[in-house]
Formats: sequence, C-alpha cells, structure tokens
Amino acid sequence: MARYSRSNDWGFPRWRGYGSGRETTQVRICDRHGCEEPGDCPAPKSPNSPERWYFCATHAGEYNRGWNYFEGLSAEDAAAREAQETRDTSGYAEAKHYGWGGSGDGSRSRDEMRALDVLELESDADFDAVKLAWRRLAKANHPDVRPGDADAAVRFQAIQAAYEVLRAAEDRRTWRPS
Ligand SMILES: [Zn+2]
Repeated sequence: MARYSRSNDWGFPRWRGYGSGRETTQVRICDRHGCEEPGDCPAPKSPNSPERWYFCATHAGEYNRGWNYFEGLSAEDAAAREAQETRDTSGYAEAKHYGWGGSGDGSRSRDEMRALDVLELESDADFDAVKLAWRRLAKANHPDVRPGDADAAVRFQAIQAAYEVLRAAEDRRTWRPS
C-alpha cells in the first residue's frame, strides 16, 4: 500500500469535515483509545503532515491543548497501537470496502481518503474529479516542468500513487462479473 509519510512538506492543515453532506456513510469513531463517540474533528498527527487523527469534540479539545497521544511510546509501540485501533474501529468499513457489489454509497477506505487528501479533493469527489485533479497536479509538479525541485518531485510521486489507489478502487467498484 502506498504511504504518504514522506510527503511531510505537503502543506498546512486543511480543516474540514470529511463526509459532510453524505448522510448514509458509516460513522467514523473517535481515534482516542477506548472512545466510542463519533470522531468528526480532524487533527493533524504532526505539523505539516497530511495524516489526521479523527477525534470527537471532547478529545479534539484535549489533543489541541497539547496532550500527546503517543507520549511515552516508542515508534514501534505507537505504530502497533495505531494498527490495533485501526482494526478495532474501522475493520468493518475496510472489509466492506473490498466486498462485491459496489454499494455506490461512496464509502471510502483509509487509503482512499488519504489519496483524496493528496489530490486536494473532498471525500465525496467522483472519479471524474479525481482525474481532473490528478492531471492538474501532476502537470504542475512534473519533473519536466520543475527540474531540480525535490519538493515537487516528492509531490509528483505522491500524486501518482494517490491516483493509482483511487483508480484501483474505482475499478473494484465498477467491475462486474459477466
Ligand atoms: Zn473521543
């Protein structure tokens, strides 16, 4: 799976609600361990990182006051905790995503959400919007256009990877056994 941790120059956090205007999606649960509230407050995991926590209002407040979610944990422990919590809170959604039938309700995997973020799109963007954003950003960051620009090269790779993730997801949704 593509990871975007290297594109840590991606830019400032964009504060926006995922899934706003989409009533039928499953509810994302707060990322705070043990919390069962809906997590609809995105918070960057670190400055200039495209990765987000999604907290309930209470825990977003706690996080924003400087509470360190991974305080005292080694990098391995932190990764293990995140993997564990991903399984706990979104395993169902991920499993559903790989099922047949392409529900058409716009449900997105975590990787797709990251990919949409890289392409500067909202969570309900359709594939035509994906293609347009991909062409625009790939063009703007292409090595031929920005020779010697290492930041642009990193962005270009992330943009390509994001497009591959979303294209593969689109194929899974639209493919039907004949
Ligand atoms: Zn919470």
